[in-house]
Amino acid sequence: MLYRQDLKEIKPYTSNAIDPKDIRLDANESPFGLPSQILDQFLDWLQKKPGLNRYPDNEATVLRNQISKHYNCNEDNLIIGVGSDSLIDSALRCWLEEGDTVLFPEPSFSMYRLSTIINHGIPETFPFDKSFQYKLEVIRQRISEVKPKVLILCSPNNPTGSTLSIDMIENILESFHGLVIVDEAYGEFTVGTAADLIDRYHNVLVLRTFSKALGLAGIRLGYGIGNQSLIEILNKTRPPYNINALTLQLGSIALENYRLIEPHIKDIKKETKWLSNQLSKRPFIKIFPTEANFIFAISKKKDLGERLKKQGILIRSLSKEKGYYRISCGSREENNRLLHELDVIEKEG
Ligand SMILES: *Cc1c(COP(=O)(O)O)cnc(C)c1O
Repeated sequence: MLYRQDLKEIKPYTSNAIDPKDIRLDANESPFGLPSQILDQFLDWLQKKPGLNRYPDNEATVLRNQISKHYNCNEDNLIIGVGSDSLIDSALRCWLEEGDTVLFPEPSFSMYRLSTIINHGIPETFPFDKSFQYKLEVIRQRISEVKPKVLILCSPNNPTGSTLSIDMIENILESFHGLVIVDEAYGEFTVGTAADLIDRYHNVLVLRTFSKALGLAGIRLGYGIGNQSLIEILNKTRPPYNINALTLQLGSIALENYRLIEPHIKDIKKETKWLSNQLSKRPFIKIFPTEANFIFAISKKKDLGERLKKQGILIRSLSKEKGYYRISCGSREENNRLLHELDVIEKEG
């Protein structure tokens, strides 16, 4: 077929097949369902027969207003996306011309490479140090080598959990004038945000999502925070009515009741520490410090991912040769099942 040649090398984004019985520690989702008060308010709204025959609010006015209060910014500093995935794509679509380079860390979120290629760009990577920490000199060196149009930084980084301080990001922004995307998909689990930099640096776009800490992966809702001039550019390629009415409403009710979700975030942080501690006692797994709701692990145990899967536990297998895995923090019950199965696997050898 006569479709784009450069797409031939692309494999679609894949996730594990879903069996409802499986314990899912593979997608960094929240183990918590929505607080019932939030669901009830949503059902009330549905019962009042909202006009779903009409298009939703193209400007997502209510939601942008609510989010702006969280960041002490203006509605004009915000753009809403169908998950933050779609905003990565929008940004690259606006910035890249054929053959432009996009620089991002390795290992990191697989969509950076995919979105770059889809948007006619050339993916380039920079490494972490031996303990998977960001190194400013390495990033600067790679910037001068590959001269990227766009730099993507992920903090905390998926899958390594590594973080960049705001000072480090600012340091890069002082000399790099391409677009800098700071992906804070796990930002709620840490302190600070690069959104504090948007007034001083007009080329920084901060991405956040409802999918992880807020426990709403199912509604596909994310947002970008940036200088008004940058958001105006992104809006040029935003599809009309991109956020559906149900998602807009539920997202808005969730933010209104953020105080009910906050305890979940605290719990997940505590539980991740507990799980890290337990995993660190297993000699066949090496784990790394994390500030997110997942743990980066290296294990030479053969087929660890497949063996857990047979027992109904899904973790993310990242690299077979290197033995890289990413384990999302589940509920205590789920985490205990994981630890139990790991112990069984260890005994079996
Ligand atoms: C999960 C994840 C996203 C995608 O979030 P959505 O809002 O669900 O599209 C973006 N970036 C990183 C690093 C992620 O891990």
